[in-house]
Amino acid sequence: MSEPSDSEELAALTTALKRHLERRQRAGVRYLARVSPAQPQAMTSAESPKPKSAEISKLAETQPVVRPESLEDLRAAIGDCQRCKLCSGRTHLVFGVGNPRAKLMFVGEGPGRDEDLKGEPFVGRAGQLLTDIITKGMGLKREDVYICNVVKCRPPENRNPEPDEVAACEPFLKRQIDIIRPDIIVGLGKFAVQTLLNSKVPISKLRGVWASYHGIKLMPTFHPAYLLRNPADKKLVWEDIKQVIKVMRGENA
Ligand code: URA
Repeated sequence: MSEPSDSEELAALTTALKRHLERRQRAGVRYLARVSPAQPQAMTSAESPKPKSAEISKLAETQPVVRPESLEDLRAAIGDCQRCKLCSGRTHLVFGVGNPRAKLMFVGEGPGRDEDLKGEPFVGRAGQLLTDIITKGMGLKREDVYICNVVKCRPPENRNPEPDEVAACEPFLKRQIDIIRPDIIVGLGKFAVQTLLNSKVPISKLRGVWASYHGIKLMPTFHPAYLLRNPADKKLVWEDIKQVIKVMRGENA
């Protein structure tokens, strides 16, 4: 059999690419974010080690065509998200706030009423407590750290996010973490911690013990909303935060 000519090869590649993009479109992908030609390797993430060749075609079915390289591109890729049923009740999609190069990242569960109205995470009563932990407890500014949630839209009546909602939104959290690459993540509450660690262990057992999120140090602690109901446990959270401060200062945990 003779070798295909350049134009035949180009035509075959074009057809394959067209089919691939049509499949991505049917799967709900609406945006292709920019990728910097200088940094193609940045597409390799902590949670996605280099796939073996047999896995590549499977990955192509589940991954966006191009991975967003910046938080702005990721936000653009999420767009006016309709990927799960939480979209119908939201005022704002609450993407995240803070320093895109933060060394420290806080991950909560999902926006509440105040966050939904403002479009910013942790701005209600629980948010004020988190802000106090960051500013008064750690001596940092809110703008120094990065704050976001597992799900980006408010669950009705602040119920726990459901598995399909987490499944739809979790890739965006993973990508946020991958773009920011913080040294430390503080997981706020049972839901965020169990999601990040893919664990069902109760938060009372997980809190205060360093864990790893794909090589990033993860400190599980209680959620600020829980502390509003159980102020006596603030001292436990302070113990956890002191461990975080130690590691940030380069002292051993
Ligand atoms: N609780 C959360 O988990 N996240 C917020 O943004 C606000 C309250």
